Amino acid sequence: MSVEPKIDDGRVRCDACPVMCYIKPGLTGACDRYGNEGGQLVRLDPHVILDRSLQGAVPFLDRADDWDGDIVGGTRFVTAIGAGTTYPDYKPAPFIVASEIDGVDMVTVVTEGIFSYCGVKVKIDTDRHIGPEGSPVRAEGEAIGHVTTGEYGSQMLSLGGVHHLTGSGKKAGRATCAALLALSNGEAVELTVDAGVSMLVQSGQPPVINGAREERMRVGCGSATIGMFAKQWQGNIDEVVVVDDHITGVLSEHQAGKVLGIPETGVRMKGRRSTPGRYFEVAGPGTGWGGTDISDPLTILGPFDPKVARPGLRMLMVSTTGEQAAYFELDEALRPIERDMPAPVVFSVDRIKENCEPALCTVLFMAGAGGSLRAGVTENPVRLTTSVKNALIRVTCGGAPVFIWPGGGITFMVDVALVPKNAFGYVPTPALVAPIEFTMRRDDYARLGGHMSHLRPLADVLAETSARQIAPRVGPWPLKPLPRS
Ligand code: SF4
Repeated sequence: MSVEPKIDDGRVRCDACPVMCYIKPGLTGACDRYGNEGGQLVRLDPHVILDRSLQGAVPFLDRADDWDGDIVGGTRFVTAIGAGTTYPDYKPAPFIVASEIDGVDMVTVVTEGIFSYCGVKVKIDTDRHIGPEGSPVRAEGEAIGHVTTGEYGSQMLSLGGVHHLTGSGKKAGRATCAALLALSNGEAVELTVDAGVSMLVQSGQPPVINGAREERMRVGCGSATIGMFAKQWQGNIDEVVVVDDHITGVLSEHQAGKVLGIPETGVRMKGRRSTPGRYFEVAGPGTGWGGTDISDPLTILGPFDPKVARPGLRMLMVSTTGEQAAYFELDEALRPIERDMPAPVVFSVDRIKENCEPALCTVLFMAGAGGSLRAGVTENPVRLTTSVKNALIRVTCGGAPVFIWPGGGITFMVDVALVPKNAFGYVPTPALVAPIEFTMRRDDYARLGGHMSHLRPLADVLAETSARQIAPRVGPWPLKPLPRS
């Protein structure tokens, strides 16, 4: 909370972001984060403090093995959620908190960063082809990002970033900002992919693709599935084809089948043979079997080799989630005829399903904190950057652990599921507002040129603020002691 010079008509000017709103008495600024209460500029959302004692006897992940119920590393952590900002950081951060942790003097510098350089990476654990890599992803009809490189069992989106926020027109910037804010705060967002699907994406929830709620992530690629279950198929079936948009596996040709001595079957695959029993491009990508565009698995087979195949040969065709499966036997003309699946084969398909993890969306907020907000921490900003790199400073986002990218700057990522609810905000420049805290030893803070005269004891901060105290989410406690420099 700060007192700003009043204009004659009672308005106050907010200088917490470049918009510089004049706010009339009783009203809020353009972002609804600040308001004019009796001539005072106030941050409207409550300041959030994490209190471990509210978590009960639930141990933190990093101490799960040795936790004996004692509280170490302090019980309360002052987050930047609702703390306000000191943009453009010509003055020290809103809270510079001194505390003693296990006999070590520590400092936590707390501010709400305004990030024009930010976005989210979305990992969608599903087999479904959502659209070609590089395809624009849209919200409210505006391009806000693109489909990026798929990962193992997951489709990936890269959304936001400075070009979408600032360089694609006002409407696109607003749509980008709104989608990033909603995703970061754990809300569901409807997205469409050019030449792809429409989907509902939400952190911690399964994706809904073209109206269908996804249930399973794949057990592995087609080749890996053969490797995992070859032994269980041996003796119960002659051939297995695991249909996969990327690497379709064929049991009798695969290394796993060879090692187990499974005889050749004369099966012939379409697509491009990579190595024995591993085929690429058996079909186009889509929302059918194993992320392909097929609904009839036999379309990826050629005629069986009459020199090897025999009538009665038993073949299972299954997708990488086990959600699609069909059992065939060859007739006298060596044509596969679908039959009822024998019990051991049903069991093996169920085993594939059992080994699939649930379909899930994960949202990582990513931003660059290497700009002016560093000046709110230290008079010599580059020392903050190097100290973060040298692991002398723990960076957290609303108390949640972050991953810092190697190389220049302070580019961090955080799983929004670990950040307290509604920790993110926005300003209409457009940019996102995210909490960020820097925790370090007090002597290190002095060495990097910290604003030592603005240090306030934790007890004073707790006494002054009418903060909301909440239990932290699962994750490492941010106030663990740090190594000596
Ligand atoms: S948009 Fe919000 S933070 Fe920016 S000046 Fe207006 S009230 Fe302040």
